[in-house]
Amino acid sequence: MGKIIVLDELTANKIAAGEVIERPASVVKELVENSIDAGADNISIEIKSGGIKYIRITDNGQGFEPDDAVLAFDKHATSKIRVAEDLENVNTLGFRGEALPSIASVSRVKLVSKTAEAPVGVCVHLEGGDLIEVSEIGCAKGTTLEVMDLFFNTPARYKFLKKDHVEASYVTDAIEKIALANPDVSFKLVSNGKTVLQTPGNGDLQSTIYAIFGRDVATKLKEVKYEESHINVNGYVGDISLMYSNRNRQIFFVNGRYIKNKTLSAALDKTYSTLAMKGKFPFCVLSVKINPMHVDVNVHPAKIEVRFDNEGLVFEVIYRAVTSALFEDRRKSSIATPKTIQNHTQSTERSYDTKPVTFETFEQYLKIKEEEIPLEVEVEVEVEEKEEEIKEEAVAEQIPIMQSAVEVAKETVVAESLPQENIIQERTENKKRENEVFEFARIIGQVWNAYILFEHEGKLYMMDQHAAHERIMYEELRRIINGSEPMVQMLLSPITMELSPSEFQTLKNNFDYFARLGMEMEEFGTASVIIRTLPTILLDENIHSFIQEGLDNIISGGETSLYNDETIFQMACKAAVKANKRLDLREMEELIRRMSTLDNPFTCPHGRPIVIEITKYEIEKRFKRK
Ligand code: ADP
Ligand code: MG
Repeated sequence: MGKIIVLDELTANKIAAGEVIERPASVVKELVENSIDAGADNISIEIKSGGIKYIRITDNGQGFEPDDAVLAFDKHATSKIRVAEDLENVNTLGFRGEALPSIASVSRVKLVSKTAEAPVGVCVHLEGGDLIEVSEIGCAKGTTLEVMDLFFNTPARYKFLKKDHVEASYVTDAIEKIALANPDVSFKLVSNGKTVLQTPGNGDLQSTIYAIFGRDVATKLKEVKYEESHINVNGYVGDISLMYSNRNRQIFFVNGRYIKNKTLSAALDKTYSTLAMKGKFPFCVLSVKINPMHVDVNVHPAKIEVRFDNEGLVFEVIYRAVTSALFEDRRKSSIATPKTIQNHTQSTERSYDTKPVTFETFEQYLKIKEEEIPLEVEVEVEVEEKEEEIKEEAVAEQIPIMQSAVEVAKETVVAESLPQENIIQERTENKKRENEVFEFARIIGQVWNAYILFEHEGKLYMMDQHAAHERIMYEELRRIINGSEPMVQMLLSPITMELSPSEFQTLKNNFDYFARLGMEMEEFGTASVIIRTLPTILLDENIHSFIQEGLDNIISGGETSLYNDETIFQMACKAAVKANKRLDLREMEELIRRMSTLDNPFTCPHGRPIVIEITKYEIEKRFKRK
């Protein structure tokens, strides 16, 4: 007997389901896109247990004809293409006729639907792809689809699902993107009985951004409205005060579909390249409309990646679109002074109504915007410059850096070859000696609002106040995470923080972690938190950046990454605001006193020095006394 058999339809659907239907979020995405294709402007989504147990999508779209309601669950049943030529011109979101049969084959499905004309509605019930029952039902125009017990008959796939709350955040994330692509549709997402997201559906993208990302984001936007070479770019980009440490808030749509594409991100990056710090990413929600003939959307079965047949052109158009939005104020004022308008980026035959931005205008813009740059960014400029200076000085003047990373490494190597007791003894003695420097320091003062000068036993020391502050916070946070009790203070006026619904869920899942650090939080509204207590160590620091950094780390590295030293250090860095700040004597004393309690007061976790030592000999040499 031959080994080859033709797969029955059900098996084929189960296999196909693996390509499209990975998790509850993919079910929700397919169904919601169907609702949009059916002309709905009001869609509500309800999930339980992250959508694994239960998903319900209700829309006010055109509804299924009774006959179609059963047919739609057949493989490749679609109303969206009739003949192969139509394929090039589909503007609807789904056209493969795969979603419904795929979903039905791995769950229990109930469909209730009615068209405007039909006297009664139809109800279809399937289990694992088998038709159980078809009946008539009285209902309003539109469609409700319930999907229960996802993957109940495919245990291997079920096993790969994550915890309920993680699946719920994927669903939220999917709805956020769809809602941003469809500001004229009102979406409501309810998870375990709680509304987590609701958009107005008033056709205004800025209101939708407000509903999802909150007021702070919505008030820092620049509108993009641009067309060139039949490519239309619309949406919003954040101004330069709205920067993030990853690309999670860079959202692109091509012909209404959320996608990822390197060309688009690269064009955006280029626009901000002279303004933003390295490793900082701007905010955007941009919708690109381009003739579907020039786009290949079949790169991936979940249709998230696309290719353009002319990537270079798309890059240029996006670059110019964003540039003109970002520098619009400049443009207006530079019209009065024509000499600043030069033509660097365009060829002459191109016609578009925005003026190109020259290097000088970038510089000027930067100046104008300086006051708006958040501290966080300033801090990093500071640190980078300082690093350079210190390095240069150290080389030029041969000032020995008190304990460079190399020396630490060397010492460790030497220590490792000594007998165990000696090492421990030596280390504790070294420690005592080192920390004495701080304990008995005589403070001389502060220079450039950045360094503290002090003296001890005939040596002059220079301490980088910002690096010291970060180190103190880092060590303290690490101790707390390893079990020591934080000193906590109740806030007179609690801090509120706005988040996107998906970030909010991630934060909520980790309330315990922040509570352990001494930050008691509670939910406030649909996607905000109220912070009622803080550990004293973070009292005057930037709490928003601290939490945001934690969330970014979870999003890119999972929840366990919160316990990594690297993450803790990053969070400490983000929170520390003491760069470029005048300190009074008491503040300097306090900083130095706290340094004396550290395990490693001399280098930051990345091996950069915190304190350098300058000997009398070196100074005398410079005065040519030696
Ligand atoms: P596709 O969307 O690729 O056509 P689906 O399996 O997702 O394939 O849907 C099959 C068909 O069912 C659609 O072409 C459409 O006619 C119909 N349909 C699906 N969802 C809805 C809905 N919410 N309202 C009305 N019709 C729908
Ligand atoms: Mg579909």
